[in-house]
Amino acid sequence: MKQQGKVYLIGAGPGDPGLVTVRARELIELADVIVYDYLANPKLLEWTKPGSEKIYVGKSAGRHSIPQDEIEEILVANAKKGHQVVRLKGGDPFVFGRGGEEVQELEIDKIPYEVVPGVTAALATAAYAGIPLSHRDYSSAITFLTGHENPEKHTLSINFSDYGKTKSTLCIYMGIGQLPRIVQELKAGGMSGTMPVAIIEWATLNRQRSIFSTLDSILADLTASGLGAPAMVVIGEVVAHRAKAEWFEGRPLFGKRIVVTRAREQAGELSKMLTDQGAEVIELPFISVKQHFEGQRVSEVFAGIAVYEWIIFTSANGVKNFFDLFYKAYDDIRCLGPMRIAAVGAATAREIEKHRLKVDLMPEKANAEALADKLIENEGVESVQILVVTGNQNRDSLVQRLESDEGRAIVDTLPLYKTTKTDLSQDPAAERFRREGADVVLFTSSSTVKSFVEQHAALTLAADARKPIFGSIGPLTTTTLKELKLPVAFEATQASLEHFVVETISYLKSQ
Ligand code: SAH
Repeated sequence: MKQQGKVYLIGAGPGDPGLVTVRARELIELADVIVYDYLANPKLLEWTKPGSEKIYVGKSAGRHSIPQDEIEEILVANAKKGHQVVRLKGGDPFVFGRGGEEVQELEIDKIPYEVVPGVTAALATAAYAGIPLSHRDYSSAITFLTGHENPEKHTLSINFSDYGKTKSTLCIYMGIGQLPRIVQELKAGGMSGTMPVAIIEWATLNRQRSIFSTLDSILADLTASGLGAPAMVVIGEVVAHRAKAEWFEGRPLFGKRIVVTRAREQAGELSKMLTDQGAEVIELPFISVKQHFEGQRVSEVFAGIAVYEWIIFTSANGVKNFFDLFYKAYDDIRCLGPMRIAAVGAATAREIEKHRLKVDLMPEKANAEALADKLIENEGVESVQILVVTGNQNRDSLVQRLESDEGRAIVDTLPLYKTTKTDLSQDPAAERFRREGADVVLFTSSSTVKSFVEQHAALTLAADARKPIFGSIGPLTTTTLKELKLPVAFEATQASLEHFVVETISYLKSQ
């Protein structure tokens, strides 16, 4: 039976991917086609299943957004093909998002649909700027308005002078362009020049900026601040009674843009720690990792898997690729046999534990030599058959050490993936780095320093971009930075991600 197509109109929330609903995430994971616009965070697309089609219909540099009737045609045509179509819209689909028009079109074409609400920008901006939209003492009503102009009449779609005497908190969407006229009309309608006003740009993202002013001063303050769309204008007594704590913009790394390198196993963890402290993180992918193996070799190893007493994983990538292939060959985890398992470090161990397998040995320091030493000292490996799962960058030192006179183990290696250099000239994260620069580049290993220097041509900053300082995770990385003539601003007191983040915060604070 042909699957029936359906359209899901989904609120993508204000920006932070953590602010979408559970239902939205479920549907994004299932979708065959995703139609998304400018304000829907592209990070949500990382949840899609492989092979899903992503169609961008928002505006971009030098191009207008796709006209509304064409968007509706895309939705209808894909649903008629039997696809599950997700239409992702910033905030809530029914708040100034033309969701109503899309639904009407779907009804005309008898396409089944579902609507999933989202956190609308007014609520998000208020929460993230600490403004209570209602307050028993100051405001018992909340009004959502649009500053959009009526294109036929070249007037505001709304007569703002009607709101001059309101006791309601006003949340004005798309209000920046027309703010002079809005202010003028509100005052003409009787609003006091001392009425508190806030403007919040890119709310909920680590690039959020906000200003607080009054009706009389807001235009000058807006110009001085350089804030622009997308931004929310909030007007009302409650603005003056906002929370003092600045729980969002007050975090230690807020306003800082930090570069980390992706494809290193711990990059995700480091990015998350920095993001939680308020930093805007750019992940530069210096290397990309792809599955790569010799079929014959894999078959031989799998056929004789029971002979190994130890299996050593030197990276999380190795674990992922190993089990990917293992499950294709066997459908029972017991086929792995009674071997013991060693992991080079915590990230690798976590990947192994996902398969409900315990890691029997892990060195204190996450490196191959330490792993070999620990295995030799604790276990004795003479004549023991060991399988080392690796990538194409050989772990020669590990194997040599195990096979040396001290170890005398019998070692087989199984390379399962290939690490290659990324072409940064085409990469969007690198493009952003060239255009905007950063405050800090954090190096987590000597190899990332080398890649940074090698890829220099693709990382040359624009004239007005921020010029970053360089931070190092430990002495080895610092030596490489110095050898390559990059000035080291600070080094973590201990080579761990936690210490690295703490050092970054305290260094930036001292500047
Ligand atoms: N459907 C959306 C609104 C779309 S209109 C919603 O429910 O939020 C677009 C306007 O929303 C922008 O011009 C801006 O005024 C506001 N907006 C959307 N996201 C925002 C954000 N992260 N920060 C500040 N304003 C935002």
